[in-house]
Amino acid sequence: MTGRFAPPLVRLSVPQWQRIVAHCYHGLPDEACGLLAGPMVAGEPTGLITEVYPARNTDASARTYTVDGKDFLRASRDAEDRGEEIVGVWHSHTHTDPYPSPTDVERAVDPAWIYVIVSLRDEAPMLRAFRLRAGAVAECRVVLEAGAGRRA
Ligand SMILES: [Zn+2]
Repeated sequence: MTGRFAPPLVRLSVPQWQRIVAHCYHGLPDEACGLLAGPMVAGEPTGLITEVYPARNTDASARTYTVDGKDFLRASRDAEDRGEEIVGVWHSHTHTDPYPSPTDVERAVDPAWIYVIVSLRDEAPMLRAFRLRAGAVAECRVVLEAGAGRRA
């Protein structure tokens, strides 16, 4: 925690967590990715996740990811229709920790976004969330809620 930006408490529903993790396993041996939608207040995500969108990784790589442009458009239109925004992105690490790689930090495009990383290194998947801003990494606590999320 750098003190320069406050990480929100990320609230995911159990079905959202399951969709994210399932998409990550589907993507093997490559990294998988997707987007998160939710409310933004004054340009900052509140941490509530209302929808998760599996997307294609156009890099088709086990080391990097790029969210498919059409998948991004479709997700952001859907979020806007509900008065919300894309508040983050998730991707998998197939053989490493659920922690941002130097490439993840370098490529972090939006300082407001929540960056979720799922590690498939061990038998059980590990999901963590971060803010990435100006080269700094701050972890967000993640809570799983049985009933949260609009459509989950
Ligand atoms: Zn990564």
